[in-house]
Amino acid sequence: MDISFSAEHESFRNEVRTFLDGNLTGELREAAEFCPGMFLDYEHNMAWHKILYEKGWVAPAWPKEYGGTGWDLLQRYIWTTETGLAGAPGTAPMGLGMCGPMLIGHGTEQQKQYYLPRILSGEDYWCQGYSEPASGSDLASLGLKAVTDGTDLVLNGSKIWTTHAHWANRMFLLVRTRDGDKPQHGITFLLLEMNSPGIRVEPIVFASGTHEVNQVFFDDVRVPKTNIVGEEDQGWTVAKYLLEFERGGGGAARFHTGLQRLRNFAGDISASGQRLLDDPAFAAKLNAAAVKIEAIQFTEFRIMAAISKGGSPGPESSIMKTLGAEMGQHLSELMVEALAFYNSPHQPEAREVGQNVPAVGPRAGLTAFPRYINFRAQSIAGGTNEVQANIVAKMVLGL
Ligand SMILES: Cc1cc2nc3c(=O)[nH]c(=O)nc-3n(C[C@H](O)[C@H](O)[C@H](O)COP(=O)(O)OP(=O)(O)OC[C@H]3O[C@@H](n4cnc5c(N)ncnc54)[C@H](O)[C@@H]3O)c2cc1C
Repeated sequence: MDISFSAEHESFRNEVRTFLDGNLTGELREAAEFCPGMFLDYEHNMAWHKILYEKGWVAPAWPKEYGGTGWDLLQRYIWTTETGLAGAPGTAPMGLGMCGPMLIGHGTEQQKQYYLPRILSGEDYWCQGYSEPASGSDLASLGLKAVTDGTDLVLNGSKIWTTHAHWANRMFLLVRTRDGDKPQHGITFLLLEMNSPGIRVEPIVFASGTHEVNQVFFDDVRVPKTNIVGEEDQGWTVAKYLLEFERGGGGAARFHTGLQRLRNFAGDISASGQRLLDDPAFAAKLNAAAVKIEAIQFTEFRIMAAISKGGSPGPESSIMKTLGAEMGQHLSELMVEALAFYNSPHQPEAREVGQNVPAVGPRAGLTAFPRYINFRAQSIAGGTNEVQANIVAKMVLGL
């Protein structure tokens, strides 16, 4: 496998590095480094989003005709890698990573023209209404009722685990418009405004104390049928298409950065005069993680090679989703192990960007434990690791 880059791609890499040097502020780096959860808070998220939007780089994976960069696969890889190595925040995936590509693939011209520019500019912030209290892995069993009344659908029921519903002004969701012969039949893919009368968002606070997800209740919520994506009752195809984009994973670069942070930290901290980095048992764990990250890197290259032959990410995205979740969790475990009793102080106020509250121990201790707790969800959100394993077994390995 030839993994060297052409002169054009190396020059693009330099352009990206120059851009990051000039635009990735210390505040944004700090917000990303000390983010305790899986997603950045709205304020910093949108601050970075707007910088990228002004540069025209907010949607690296979208086609140029819809306002994307039109970058080829290697340019996108370089972008993901350089932003990961620079410690840049990610952008919220629900609009740019899921709803946008889904609309490009399945939306009407009118839907594309209306929604895509608003996703790019950040005017619309989306949340994903797939899961319900009794439907997660078995998503097709979902039961939020949508009954036709004139030109509208009237919604009753509830969605749960809805990330950032408390910030979103729009939701894409799956509703049950008909009880079909199979559960997949009779599902409709819908777009709605979060300020529609009858919608109530209730927070679900994690054990770490952070608020990322919610339960959303629908009480006679009217949605015009023009907001259906694809055909009524046929939303399952659209839903599955979107999941391929959700499950892509962010690449190996962010793990290189995470591991480097761990190495730096283990080099700084010492007990009884011995640096943690020089402790053979801990060093062996770091080296084993480095080998796994290298394996993720090569899996990423392999998937890129497959995508370069055309098409959407495909079921292989489940491989990256699983590997990414496991490595994110593993690095968070190693950080907790390294910090030992410095995990104990609970100082959420000290990790706010720009605060002047001194940390009781090393600054890494402000986020390590909440992150450890929150990252348990990585192997659940977006489809559990067990479900991804089923997909890989069936669709990739043909078992
Ligand atoms: C932090 C977080 C954020 C989320 N954000 C969103 C969001 O924004 N929007 C949204 O719609 N949903 C969201 N979710 C929901 C998420 O998609 C579901 O939690 C997930 O699909 C699992 O569903 P469940 O929780 O109902 O678990 P269940 O489906 O009940 O699974 C319970 C256990 O059984 C296992 N299991 C189930 N079926 C199988 C099978 N066929 N084979 C093997 N094992 C199986 C699972 O792996 C799991 O261990 C989020 C979840 C979390 C934790």
